[in-house]
Amino acid sequence: MIVTRAIAEIRVARWEDPSLQWGLVPTMGYLHEGHLSLVRRARSENDRVAVSIYVNPTQFAPDEDLDVYPRDMERDLRILREEEVDVVFAPDDEVMYGPGFQTEVRVRELTQLLEGASRPTHFQGVTTVVAKLFNIVQPHRAYFGQKDAQQAVVVRRMVQDLNFNLDVVVCPIVREEDGLAQSSRNERLTPEQRAAAPVLHRALHAARSALQSGERRGDRLREIMARVVEAEPLARVDYVSVANPGTLRELDLVHDDALLSLAVYFGDVRLIDNMPVNVPE
Ligand code: AMP
Repeated sequence: MIVTRAIAEIRVARWEDPSLQWGLVPTMGYLHEGHLSLVRRARSENDRVAVSIYVNPTQFAPDEDLDVYPRDMERDLRILREEEVDVVFAPDDEVMYGPGFQTEVRVRELTQLLEGASRPTHFQGVTTVVAKLFNIVQPHRAYFGQKDAQQAVVVRRMVQDLNFNLDVVVCPIVREEDGLAQSSRNERLTPEQRAAAPVLHRALHAARSALQSGERRGDRLREIMARVVEAEPLARVDYVSVANPGTLRELDLVHDDALLSLAVYFGDVRLIDNMPVNVPE
């Protein structure tokens, strides 16, 4: 397994044999089963697999958790070796944002809603770094998790708008046994907060059950999710949403496909979760 911070070294590996198919899995490290589901999917669909590990500072606002974001490069590399990953790109900030850097990639409306309403500078950081990673590795396929549903929608939009020559593959959410979506940020929860955190998944379930029982009103479904979370004293709702999965706009009424999603604080740890749903006509 090649491990490098150098873009030139990635390019040498990538173009050694141009007939091989490459898959890229972008991550911020501190790997868990959610990341590994992407790596395994990439492994099964490509000749070569590249994983990037980079905690990208430009997608964190100044008051967010960049400094305390969990990191363990040795452990990550051990895991990726076991998964038979070919190349790990682990750059530092000088490599990614060298002197004089001043270019940004911005997707407009889609990034103003949901996560973007709470984190207005977040997606500009994401799309800029993902565009750079796509240009550095030039993969045939790039793997993202449904866990970050809006990120997947935004990246697909960028790929289409800027004509990146690759397929975006979105993989299902991997959860703990109690329903909590796996996330590197779960590590930052106290034992009490960790015990309370499955409330996100319960809220999504409650809304889906209501939908299946015939409730179609967006407001009512949002209220159901908010009530479930508010019943948990350690949790504080940031937003709850019932949105069109393509445009991410809030729905007055659910007709067919919808994306249920929410963001919840436990102390200063902010967790997100979502559930795509479909109502048959
Ligand atoms: P991160 O390291 O949090 O930036 O995540 C890297 C990639 O893994 C992103 O595409 C995430 O959506 C994906 N991912 C993170 N957690 C999960 C999970 N529990 N299930 C599936 N994919 C995930």
